Amino acid sequence: MIYDLIIIGAGPAGLTAGIYASTRKLKTLILDATEAGGQLASLYPEKGIDNYPGYIMTDAGQLAAHLINHATSMGCELHEGERATELKDFSGHLQMVTDRASYETKAVIIATGMGLFKPKRIGCPGELEFEGRGVYYKLPDRETLKNKRIMFVGGGNSALEMALLVCDQAETCLVHRRDTYRADEAIVEKVQGSKIEQILSSQVVEIRGTDHVTSVVVKTNGKLEERPIDAIIVNIGTASEALDMEGWGVELEDGLIKVDTDMCTSRRGVFACGDVVAYKGKYKQIVVACGEAAIASNSAYKYIKEPYWAK
Ligand code: NAP
Repeated sequence: MIYDLIIIGAGPAGLTAGIYASTRKLKTLILDATEAGGQLASLYPEKGIDNYPGYIMTDAGQLAAHLINHATSMGCELHEGERATELKDFSGHLQMVTDRASYETKAVIIATGMGLFKPKRIGCPGELEFEGRGVYYKLPDRETLKNKRIMFVGGGNSALEMALLVCDQAETCLVHRRDTYRADEAIVEKVQGSKIEQILSSQVVEIRGTDHVTSVVVKTNGKLEERPIDAIIVNIGTASEALDMEGWGVELEDGLIKVDTDMCTSRRGVFACGDVVAYKGKYKQIVVACGEAAIASNSAYKYIKEPYWAK
């Protein structure tokens, strides 16, 4: 058996590529090393999303579930917990090798996002010691935060959006190392109109506790202040684990995959889309990844079927 298309990565880009491939009746397999949904499902499932067209507000987990359901109900085969490791040339086609099996395919779309990523740590004393016991990198069950003192760290969309999610049910503060935020203005405006205490130009320098976090030491303009805190939620970006990009045999630029405007890589039959690709003007947004996926899928279709209109 030979697939028309194998997609590596079941985040928004990979799933959208699968949806488009299915409208063209391509026999499609989507592989994901962990669970489907990508960053939406694993990093911030409860986070509100207010810029995905057609939804004034949805949450990441729901959007992921809709995308997964859409791709599989259109006929895509989805293998979760199966890690693609290498892409070989094989009797005129490609062979995708995984940690479980190998599959023959006519084309491949790489949509591995930021790869197997992990949240960045602050690196201060107490952080590792209290991980899971008051130090978190994604939002714990909101019920457990009710009426507690919660500190959020970071100045990007993730930190601000998470703080907004709990500010009405807990005493919340937000620590950011600059006096202005990186987050979108619309989100900053919501924070400024909320009950969240903003602690700007400040760094978390120590997390203290007994069997659980009890306080956090914050440094502002050289001055230290110990604040009683029940939980600290750190959102200062993510660090990719080494992406096994060498296995794909495509040209890279600063560790990301170089693509042209058709989302073609340097290797015949191999396309890429989403956070894993690099080009001038790249904007890391879900909707952009989905747009690139539609292009990648169309390019793969043209490559596989050579329709008269693409000649
Ligand atoms: P981010 O935008 O990279 O922001 C990380 C924040 O953490 C920055 O404010 C950064 O400060 C701060 N930081 C980094 N290292 C630090 C350290 N060692 N100590 C203290 N602070 C530190 O990360 P993100 O918020 O997770 O967002 C990631 C990407 O996803 C972004 O492109 C974002 O736009 C996108 N996203 C979009 C949405 C949405 O559209 N609704 C929602 C969430 C995320 P500096 O600013 O000083 O560097």
